[in-house]
Amino acid sequence: MRYLLLSDVHSNIEALDACLEVAQGKHDQAVCLGDLVGYGPNPNEVIEKVRGLTQVIIRGNHDKACCGLDDASEFNPFARLATQWTREALTPEHIEYLRSLPTGPKMMESFILVHGSPVDEDEYILGPGQALPLLRGPETQIVCYGHTHYQGGFMLTPTGRFQSVRFPSKPDGLTLTLPLENSARYLINPGSVGQPRDGDRRAAFAILDMDKAQVEYYRVQYDLATTQAKMKQAGLPEPLYRRLELGR
Ligand code: ZN
Repeated sequence: MRYLLLSDVHSNIEALDACLEVAQGKHDQAVCLGDLVGYGPNPNEVIEKVRGLTQVIIRGNHDKACCGLDDASEFNPFARLATQWTREALTPEHIEYLRSLPTGPKMMESFILVHGSPVDEDEYILGPGQALPLLRGPETQIVCYGHTHYQGGFMLTPTGRFQSVRFPSKPDGLTLTLPLENSARYLINPGSVGQPRDGDRRAAFAILDMDKAQVEYYRVQYDLATTQAKMKQAGLPEPLYRRLELGR
C-alpha cells in the first residue's frame, strides 16, 4: 500500500489542489493528520474535498477550536480571529462533521497517525527533547504526525543513533526519498499542505510506501497570490496571509 499523507491543510484549497495533482496516481489511499481548517479562506471547500478523498482523518487543534469543542484561548490573537471567522464561514453540516472527527492516535496497518504526538494531540514534536522519548517508547515503529508545519521528522537508527531528516536540495516535486530500515524507528512529518512554516513556502505532503519501505517527501508550487487575495477579501488578518509567502 502507498499512503498519501496530508496534514495541516488549513482551508487552503489552492495548495490542496496542487498537492493532489502531483500525488495523482502515486498512492492507493489518502489519510489526513488533522487541521483541515483554520487560517485560510476556504474551510468548506477543503472539508468537502478531503472528505471525498478519504475517511481516515483525525482531528487537529484548529478543527477542535473551529467547531467550538475548544475555546481557542491558547491561540495567539491572529489565530483566534481566524478561528472566529472560520466558525462563521462553516456550514452547520461542516461544523457537525468537524465535531465528529476522531482524536488520534489512529492505528493503521503498521504505523500510527497522530496530530501532535502519540501522548498528546496538542504537543509539538520540534526536536530531540520531544522526539527521543517517543522513539524509545513502546509505540509502533512508524508514527506519522503533523501540527508543527515542518516537513521531515526524526529517526532512531539500528545502532541507537538519533537523526533528523535532512533535505540536501529541494527542487519542485519529489525532494527526498527516505528508506525505512526494519530495525530503525521513525517519526514522519509530511509537512503542511496549506501553511508551511519551515522556511519553504511551497505546499508539502508525503507518500508512505509500505511495499517499497520508503517515505517520499514532496514540495509543490501553488497559486499563492489567489489564496492571499481571498484572505484579504475575507478580512482575515494581514500577518496570516503575509506568512504564506515567507513560509514561516
Ligand atoms: Zn496546523
